[in-house]
Amino acid sequence: NLETKVNITSKDEVGSLAQAINDLSIELNNYRKNRSEFLANISHELRTPTSYLKGYAQLLKRHQYKNKEELESYSSIIESEAERLAKLIQDLFELSKMEEGRLELYLQHVDLEEIIEQSIKKVMLKAREKNLDLSYNIQDELPLIFSDGSRIEQVLFNLLENAVNYTEKGSIYLSAWLEKDYICVLIQDTGVGIPEDELPFIFDRFHRVEKSRSRKMGGTGLGLSIVSEIIKLLQGNIEVQSKSQNGTSFLVRLPLDSTEEKSNDEI
Ligand code: ADP
Repeated sequence: NLETKVNITSKDEVGSLAQAINDLSIELNNYRKNRSEFLANISHELRTPTSYLKGYAQLLKRHQYKNKEELESYSSIIESEAERLAKLIQDLFELSKMEEGRLELYLQHVDLEEIIEQSIKKVMLKAREKNLDLSYNIQDELPLIFSDGSRIEQVLFNLLENAVNYTEKGSIYLSAWLEKDYICVLIQDTGVGIPEDELPFIFDRFHRVEKSRSRKMGGTGLGLSIVSEIIKLLQGNIEVQSKSQNGTSFLVRLPLDSTEEKSNDEI
C-alpha cells in the first residue's frame, strides 16, 4: 500500500504540486485495489467451472452413476462447464485487448437493418423455447452507418441474449430509429428487471445481480462490460432503465460515423 501523503502548507505552486501528488497517490491506490479485486474475481470464476469439471469427470471415471440418464446428465454438465470456461477465457481476452487499446475496429459502411435481423435470428430459437414473443420494428430507410458491423452485432446479440435469459414470460421488443447524427436501438423486455440500487454497477466486470441465475444461463458477468467498451470505441453510448420485476430496457446510440470525434455533451 502506497501511503504517500504530502502535507499541504501553502497555496502556491508547491501547494498545488503537493495536492497533485496526493491525488495521484489516491488514484494509484484505487487502481491497485481494483486490480487485485479483478484478479481475485478471475481466479474465483475460473475455479468454479474447473472444480465442476474435475468432480464430474471423476464420477464418470469411477463409474459412479446409476443409469444411462445419470451418465448423460453428468456428461452434459462437463460439456456446459467446459463451454463456460472457454467463453470466460474468450471474454477476458477481449476485455484485456480493449483496455490496452489493442482491439482493432473494421470500419465500413454497414446496414444496421441487416445486423439487427442477424442478431434477432441468433436468439430466436432460445426465445421460442421459452415461449417469449420476440419482435422488432426498424424505421424505414435508415441510412448506412460507417462503423464496425460485427462489433455492433456482438453488442446487440449480447443485449438480446440477456433479455431472453432474464425474462420468464412476456416479450422482447427491439426498435431502431434515426435521431440527428445517431441511430438509436432500444431493446425492451418484460423480465425480472434490475433493482435500482444495482443499476450503477451492472456494467462493471463480474457484477451480477443474482449469481446463481447468471450461472444457470452460462453467463460470465462480463457481457455488459464488453458491450459498454465496444460502444465506447464506436463513439456511441448506452443507457439502461429498469425496475425490479418490471422489465428492463437498454438504449444504444450509434453515431452515423464512428470516426468523427464527439464530445460527451453532444451525445
Ligand atoms: P451475465 O453473463 O451474468 O449475464 P452481463 O454482464 O451480461 O453478465 O450482465 C450483468 C448482470 O446484469 C446480469 O448478471 C444480470 O443480473 C443483469 N442483467 C443484464 N441484462 C439484464 C436484463 N435484460 N434483465 C435483467 N437483468 C439483466
